[in-house]
Amino acid sequence: MRLRYSFRLYPNGPQRSALARAFGCARVVYNDALRTREDARAAGLPFVSSAVLSTAVTAAKSTPQRAWLAEVSAVVLQQSLRDLDTAYRNFFDGLKGKRPRMGAPRFKSRKDNRHTVRFTANARWKITPGGDLSLPKIGDVRVKWSRALPSAPSTVAVVKDAAGRYFASFVVETDPEILPAMDNVVGIDLGLTRFAVLSDGTKIDSPRFLRRAEKKLKRAQRDLSRKAKGSANRVKARIKVARAHARTADARREFHHQLSTKIIRENQSVAVEDLAVKGLARTRMAKSVHAAGWSAFVTMLEYKAAKFGRTFHRIARFEPTSQVCSVCGVKDGPKPLGIRVWTCTACGAVLDRDINAAVNVAKAAGLAVTACRARVRPGRVPAQRGEAGTHRDGQMAVVGIPSL
Ligand SMILES: [Zn+2]
Repeated sequence: MRLRYSFRLYPNGPQRSALARAFGCARVVYNDALRTREDARAAGLPFVSSAVLSTAVTAAKSTPQRAWLAEVSAVVLQQSLRDLDTAYRNFFDGLKGKRPRMGAPRFKSRKDNRHTVRFTANARWKITPGGDLSLPKIGDVRVKWSRALPSAPSTVAVVKDAAGRYFASFVVETDPEILPAMDNVVGIDLGLTRFAVLSDGTKIDSPRFLRRAEKKLKRAQRDLSRKAKGSANRVKARIKVARAHARTADARREFHHQLSTKIIRENQSVAVEDLAVKGLARTRMAKSVHAAGWSAFVTMLEYKAAKFGRTFHRIARFEPTSQVCSVCGVKDGPKPLGIRVWTCTACGAVLDRDINAAVNVAKAAGLAVTACRARVRPGRVPAQRGEAGTHRDGQMAVVGIPSL
């Protein structure tokens, strides 16, 4: 299976300039290609193929307007074209209903929050004996290796985030580490009041370190809004917001790693509701922080299940999980969100809204969970620290199944 490993990079001054140039060239190639395709579409011409675009990039290097494209690795430019192809493919697949709908590819801006360039094996990048990352036309960049790579990577992406930090992101082939089989199975309901509720009755809130980071981010955003436009203080406040953003994202990822590892270790089968059908698809929630967090978390569950030999089920919702009694299966209609606990009119079970939903998710996946656990149970168990994905000092650990 392929996993992504990320490490913090510390480029020096000239290397930062070279990277800025590479980001710029990748962006220009992307935008030129997008414009070519958009112009063709507007003129009623057929879709311009990648081969034609690729030839155009090579030709552009010998024009005075684009001669500077030759200053960066050709692989970076070709990969940028491939990114555009991926963006188009996702867009078309969305239109065909193969995946959630998304917007058409958009032009990139130097003001974007994230900049990426990618080097494949063709680019002859390497890890030096001294542990630096040697990149063509950029140099040997210092890396903070916070964990070992399980095997030699073939591709590396260099990313600069909104907080101005650099990361090297490797795609690595790894063998699964099959854990001993066990009997536990679990359904998970992701929610707003609680991050997750498990069919065994466990209720999980965001940990304090994440809530604290979110609070700091809010404060930084408030400070920024109070600063006068164009002032030096506003610039400083904006950098503070970007840093707080990055720290919140790291804290959230850390929490997702801990929780997903714990759930996968403790259960043979895991079922989650497909988020696309969680009734969010067309709502404002679909774009919210919650929805993004859930989908990152579900992605982790999925790849960790594959990695540790567990079964992962994504269930399409057949019936509203909160309207069906998980004990007797009778559907007794919608209940306002304010109602957290109710008594089933058919069998008399006292049901907790969230646990009931989690049990229904498990049952929909064909997992044999005991429905009686959906009944009200006091107390909650906090998420514990897991071993995988624990990151310190800029390590981001595994972040998901790469789409490369
Ligand atoms: Zn019932």
